[in-house]
Amino acid sequence: MKDILIIGAGPVGLYAWSCSGMLGLSGYVIEGNDNPGGQPWELYPEKPLYDMPGFKEIKTKTFIENLMQQAETHTGQITYVGKTNLQSVTETKDGFTITLTTNQILTVKTILITSGNGVFTPIRLENLDPVQIYDNLWYAVKNPTLLANKKIVILGGGDSSVDWANHLVEDNISNDVTIVHRRELYRAKESSVQKLQKNKVKELKPYHVEAVDTNNNKITTLRISNKTIKETLTINADYFIVQYGAKVMPTMLQQFTLATTPMRKIIIQPNGQTSHPHIFAAGNSVYYEGKYYNMVTGFGEDINALYNITKIIHGQKYHPGYLSAVYCKTKS
Ligand SMILES: Cc1cc2nc3c(=O)[nH]c(=O)nc-3n(C[C@H](O)[C@H](O)[C@H](O)COP(=O)(O)OP(=O)(O)OC[C@H]3O[C@@H](n4cnc5c(N)ncnc54)[C@H](O)[C@@H]3O)c2cc1C
Repeated sequence: MKDILIIGAGPVGLYAWSCSGMLGLSGYVIEGNDNPGGQPWELYPEKPLYDMPGFKEIKTKTFIENLMQQAETHTGQITYVGKTNLQSVTETKDGFTITLTTNQILTVKTILITSGNGVFTPIRLENLDPVQIYDNLWYAVKNPTLLANKKIVILGGGDSSVDWANHLVEDNISNDVTIVHRRELYRAKESSVQKLQKNKVKELKPYHVEAVDTNNNKITTLRISNKTIKETLTINADYFIVQYGAKVMPTMLQQFTLATTPMRKIIIQPNGQTSHPHIFAAGNSVYYEGKYYNMVTGFGEDINALYNITKIIHGQKYHPGYLSAVYCKTKS
């Protein structure tokens, strides 16, 4: 039986993975999405962060990659299981038996929930093979340098579509950007919408995607139609960026019957403990009075929870000391 299961590999789960490794705990981290990184990775990878201790400024994507690299140092002790979720949880005499949707069965003494706001997956373009990966179809812009001087079509009418269209032109990445939106009005800040014209972004609205043509692992053309003027167009591009927003998949956490707020945030004590003595939680999934929802707060909650988890594993008198010192001893 392993020491810990960490549920969710967003920033807070990734840091919990690192700290568990440093503390010498054994176990697993599971992630429901295609990749770890949570909200920062899925929703705002290009945003500069100014509130990370030790960094005057760091790009979100770089910060999350650093967290991943730090966590992966401890892969031997903590095993990462991606694209999975909880199927069932049974409490046993010494801990928990957990069956994952990918059929693995894990047995652990304690659980740390770092499930944030749930499993975010981008709303995908319809009429496509859901398993096939298309190289030129992006649901998040993670590497804008690949878009340099390319013909780009952005689908969607929210802030992120409009902001990306403006950003690509204003930063001289591309001067051939088209935005396709199914409604006449955008759901974006008026000041950003006004910049579209100034930036010579081509606007096709209200156009609905009727069909997607593909060739192997590439999107070749989109057939889009405007019902008002009864027109169908075929458009091509080097890259198609879909910004339809995200949907949240069920977290299956209701299986734990923990005390929660009406908004289903898990109520924790200052030591990170939930209403179950062997289940702890940290990050955006938790609530206590005065809680501030950002990454640094979540990292602090990780340490508190893990310190108290080591006491369950090694006894109440156990005091691990500073993590760096513990890790330094185990490394040498
Ligand atoms: C637009 C925006 C800008 C922000 N800017 C900043 C900023 O500048 N600085 C800052 O510090 N914070 C910022 N935040 C807040 C920050 O993103 C959150 O505080 C942080 O993501 C919380 O991390 P988390 O790991 O708790 O949750 P999440 O990031 O939500 O990650 C949770 C992870 O758990 C996974 N998961 C959930 N349930 C399960 C399950 N049952 N099984 C398996 N996996 C599961 C999810 O897929 C996800 O990967 C911003 C948020 C937004 C939306």
